[in-house]
Amino acid sequence: MVHPEETRFEISTIKPAPPSDCGSSISRGGVVRVGITVAGIVQGVGFRPFVYQLAHKLGLTGFVRNESSCVWIEIQGSTRATEEFRSRLCSECPPQARIESVEIRFLPVRLSETGFHIAASSEPWAKAPVIPADLATCAECQREIFTPGERRYRYPFTNCTNCGPRWSIIRGLPYDRPLTSMAQFQMCNDCQQEYGNPADRRFHAQPIACPRCGPTLVLLTPDGMPVAEKDDTLRKAGEAIRKGTILALLGLGGFQLVVDATSPQAVKRLRERKRRPHKPFAVMVPNLEAAIRWCEVSPEEAESLLSPQAPILLLRRRAQVGLGVPAIAEEVAPGNPYLGVMLPYTPIHHLLMQEIGLPVVCTSGNLSEEPMSTTVEEGLKRLGSIADLFLVHNRPIVRPVDDSVARIFRGRLQLLRRARGYAPFPCRMPRNAPTILAVGAHQKNTVALLVGSSAIVGSHIGDLDNILSQQVHRRAIEDLISFFAATPKAIACDLHPDYASTQVAQELGRRFEIPLIGVQHHHAHIAACMAEHRLEGPVLGVAWDGAGFGMDGTVWGGEFLLVNGGHFRRVGTLRPFPLPGGEKASREPRRSALGLLYAHDGLKNCSAIEHLFTGQEIAILHEMLKKHINSPMASSTGRLFDAVATLLGASPVTSFEGQAAMELEFLATSAGENRYQAEVVEKDLLLVDWGPVVDGILSDLKAGRSVTGIAWAFHAALAEAVCQVALRIGQETVVLSGGCFQNRVLSELTVKKLEERGFRVYLPEAYPPNDGGISLGQLAVAQALLDQGEGKNSSGARRTLEAALLR
Ligand SMILES: [Zn+2]
Ligand SMILES: [Zn+2]
Repeated sequence: MVHPEETRFEISTIKPAPPSDCGSSISRGGVVRVGITVAGIVQGVGFRPFVYQLAHKLGLTGFVRNESSCVWIEIQGSTRATEEFRSRLCSECPPQARIESVEIRFLPVRLSETGFHIAASSEPWAKAPVIPADLATCAECQREIFTPGERRYRYPFTNCTNCGPRWSIIRGLPYDRPLTSMAQFQMCNDCQQEYGNPADRRFHAQPIACPRCGPTLVLLTPDGMPVAEKDDTLRKAGEAIRKGTILALLGLGGFQLVVDATSPQAVKRLRERKRRPHKPFAVMVPNLEAAIRWCEVSPEEAESLLSPQAPILLLRRRAQVGLGVPAIAEEVAPGNPYLGVMLPYTPIHHLLMQEIGLPVVCTSGNLSEEPMSTTVEEGLKRLGSIADLFLVHNRPIVRPVDDSVARIFRGRLQLLRRARGYAPFPCRMPRNAPTILAVGAHQKNTVALLVGSSAIVGSHIGDLDNILSQQVHRRAIEDLISFFAATPKAIACDLHPDYASTQVAQELGRRFEIPLIGVQHHHAHIAACMAEHRLEGPVLGVAWDGAGFGMDGTVWGGEFLLVNGGHFRRVGTLRPFPLPGGEKASREPRRSALGLLYAHDGLKNCSAIEHLFTGQEIAILHEMLKKHINSPMASSTGRLFDAVATLLGASPVTSFEGQAAMELEFLATSAGENRYQAEVVEKDLLLVDWGPVVDGILSDLKAGRSVTGIAWAFHAALAEAVCQVALRIGQETVVLSGGCFQNRVLSELTVKKLEERGFRVYLPEAYPPNDGGISLGQLAVAQALLDQGEGKNSSGARRTLEAALLR
């Protein structure tokens, strides 16, 4: 499987030696000296010890040194040995290293050199070094914590150069222990020795620790009273969970809530206390074998579960589990054929899972949509009414890092929430640019910073609906700016004037006196996908989601955009329909249904949904629609999904965005007939008219056809509509993004139909198709516009059209 963030290999540019003044010849008696520059993720991942050991094995002399943004190696020895070194450097490099390029040049031989050593870094650190992400416990460390007699037997903070915390503990650069949250722990002699020994797999492992000198666990009651210490905590916590207790666990990047996933009562209690009635919970299982017991796992999926990134992976649940295997409670993911599954990724999780021996719900430690707590004090305060016990430690968490969520789509990893294991790996942009800050969207927010040619997207923050998450958003911005010691020259944000993120951007724009570049929401969706796939355009972008602020001030969400560099032209859209109550429609799909039917035929056909309202409600909403009161027109595919879901009997009122659309997707289980056809009408722009589809659905419902078949045919009609628009536009590259393409049935059908007609199709992979990818898109558009000299002038003389809407 190709990792989505795997960078391209530009191998071995061989350059002649610079003119030498030391008099030695380049080759002396079959001995050569070679200088090698290795760029990529090669710092903080055990790369230098690996080089040291490889050079030793091959009997080479020389040295290795961290430079500002690469590693510089000089080796000297026989031609054969240096050749072998070169090839093994790439083929055997540490698992977390990502080599982007290797440049080789011959150097004059040094006569008196003996041995190979690791040289101290001589240069000042670069502005944008590649910071490693937090990595799941490696196999060797796992073996150690489960082997009696080992120094780190059952030690919950075991790590090495190949694994352990990184982004969650780094305070600043250079990445060295004093600038991590491990600074407060004085290394013992044994750890010091491992840390200083280039042949040890803990050489310069900054978070190195052992039971004698490192962090420890303590188990607390909700009042903060300790009830167990050290190893006892794991046994007691495990036992409590088996009895149905809700445990708050201070993990790697924040608190998690843990509860027995096979106990319906325990999961129900967690839902009530957390005020999260329906949204699926993720589960953690002890190991891969356990995952296979409850879910279907393909080889690609197994590889991803076991990867150092160890994301929550959406897996299809088995219809039947084996004899004697306890069922996972329905309450974990109600009505959902998929289950978010992860494996233990820190020693704490490994040890705890061994104690429990059952799958557990493992979800972010927060109340409803609030941000995750990261300190013991905050956790006790905010989770005190949810959790019965607190398993905490004394290694400070520098910044919140949530679990990532991914799935395998058409054989490739696709991130739906990008956080642990992936942030802050940069996305390489085509050119160097002035520093730009992007503040992201409103939901599933992430923030991003462009430094040089690196676009660094921070960890998933979440929806900015409450003060707490807005504070986390501001802190994340300040963190990125100060971490990379960067002063932004421009700020990119959404066009929506009421987004909390837009308001922060405006405030920062004034503070720094720098221009604000407003980027249209759907343009940003497409631009993000183009950035990760290095597409310059033109492409036909299909951006389908719930809602985004359109260039004309109306709600967009079913858009076809011709995107080229920093510019776009809207060439098509979904036929709009009114949303009575505006924003309220996103949590009440029945409102979308009413608006759709009103636009369809003035509510002649509303008998199918009448029962979902009181008589008074319907009268008021009808009046609002007739008089155009608070009923904005929206070309939103997300709301169309909601409306059709309601017609087919999905939840009329929901507790999380996209719930009804998900229910509709899960209805469309098996391929059926292509019964409906949307009409593509040519007006000022192409209009996808859902009228004939709604007609078909209403008459099929009257005829008593199965909702499963109707649901499938609806998906197929939309996929076909994309093709019809693509054929009319005639652009051979098509980019699909926006929250609607998280819908697997829609994505699969659309890709298949487009590819059958010869289109080249791209989907987001390393960055989410939902609003989590918006900040990257904002950076890409802002960079392109600045490149073209637009948006540069803060006084507003040459603002772009997009920016103009903001001020
Ligand atoms: Zn390790
Ligand atoms: Zn120690």
